[in-house]
Amino acid sequence: MFNKRVKIKDLLASEARNQEVVVMGWVRTFRNNQFIALNDGSTNNNVQIVVGLGLYDDSFLKRITTSASLKVTGEVVESLGKGQKIEVKAKSIEILGDSDAEKFPLQPKKHSLEFLREIAHLRFRTNTFGAVFRIRHSLAFAVHRFFNEKGFFYLHTPIITASDAEGAGEMFKVSTLPFDNTPRNEDGSINFKEDFFGRATNLTVSGQLEGELAATALSEIYTFGPTFRAENSNTARHLAEFWMIEPEMAFYDIEDNMNLAEEFIKYIIKYAMDNNKEDLEFLAQRMEDEEKQKPQTERSEMGLVEKLEFVINNNFERITYTEAIDILVNSNHYKKKKFQYDVKWGIDLQSEHERFLVEKHFKKPVIVTGYPKEIKAFYMRQNDDGKTVAAMDILAPGIGEIVGGSQREERLEKLESRMREMHIPIEEMWWYLDTRRFGTVPHAGFGLGFERMVQFVTGMTNIRDVIAFPRTPKNAEF
Ligand code: ATP
Ligand code: MN
Repeated sequence: MFNKRVKIKDLLASEARNQEVVVMGWVRTFRNNQFIALNDGSTNNNVQIVVGLGLYDDSFLKRITTSASLKVTGEVVESLGKGQKIEVKAKSIEILGDSDAEKFPLQPKKHSLEFLREIAHLRFRTNTFGAVFRIRHSLAFAVHRFFNEKGFFYLHTPIITASDAEGAGEMFKVSTLPFDNTPRNEDGSINFKEDFFGRATNLTVSGQLEGELAATALSEIYTFGPTFRAENSNTARHLAEFWMIEPEMAFYDIEDNMNLAEEFIKYIIKYAMDNNKEDLEFLAQRMEDEEKQKPQTERSEMGLVEKLEFVINNNFERITYTEAIDILVNSNHYKKKKFQYDVKWGIDLQSEHERFLVEKHFKKPVIVTGYPKEIKAFYMRQNDDGKTVAAMDILAPGIGEIVGGSQREERLEKLESRMREMHIPIEEMWWYLDTRRFGTVPHAGFGLGFERMVQFVTGMTNIRDVIAFPRTPKNAEF
């Protein structure tokens, strides 16, 4: 058996002294031919390996380069040096894999995030990405824990779908038809009857519609899976492939929905704060250093950890869309014509408007409800005013929209008439409408973009830096 090592995280936390241990990892630095900082990814902290002077010849020591992988057997002892409680006095060092120092692209210095994106296969070996991916893991685990504790069932909705009526975004087509000599109908259109599924199919943009089918039987479900949008938006908060969490609940109205979303967000943040303290502190420091580069007026008032504490300890602000428009129109920002896009009732809030509301006006997360029906999806429940729907978006500082949700229209007639107005093919959606025909109930749900949540918790400004292998327009390397 090879794996008899102790993880560095456990070793650093243990009280054991003067015992033999085996550690394995990658070299971060090697100082004075004597001190190796070894990291195995279990924590951002390295363990110091002390190489006895004269124990190894020069040609061996030269092979201990940045990112070489080692197996070290040695004794755990109190450390006399600063910065660590213990160190490992090496008895034997085995080089598992050499790393050519001339060619290895990461140096023990700060690299730009843009550069690291080009070597995404190696960026896991940096402190920043180690911290980000450990936190991402914790958040994912917390998602399941939260819903499991509440008695929700984890539903796996299909990745390949035939419904194109969701209207959530541009879709990627799924097909096995040849690109040349594509089978055609008489009118020249593509004959999808000859395609793999005998019809046109796409990668899913949301599992909601299928989620509703399950929720109207199991009561409370959630999905947590990959979602695909072929939107050509090259922003710091859009990916072509991202992970979404979509709970869907029977017997919930819009207010129940808001309460759940707020509790959920606070829960997973708290989980990361309790379980990833060191990584969060590391990222907080990183953010602070970065902020120092910015002009005073653009610096955020709170540090990362402070911000997260603030979010879990305070209620989210709840306002209607109409109130949001009023706030925007009456702001000095608007009067001084500082918004790029005009503001009036009926517009889709642009990210500059969302950011003004959360960052300048309320300085906390904001839940906006009651959007004009024209800018929202067909399935959202129509309010009595005839103008708005029971939609809710949650806006977060630094991110903008992090959650989009609604109470769903459970009244068959109202739903069908809205579908007709919006030219949604009613016949094709027979299966969806059946839930309104057979025991319809008030129900609601929302979608939380997982990467945006990870961005919020880690303070990373670009969404490409919180997913291992980002998929964005013109980029699918690795
Ligand atoms: P946006 O206006 O920011 O494009 P949206 O209105 O298209 O968002 P929804 O369709 O409501 O978003 O999707 C639910 C959630 O999924 C959003 O609140 C957001 O957190 C996340 N999300 C949406 N599109 C993307 C994307 N391209 N990349 C990453 N996350 C996304
Ligand atoms: Mn979008």
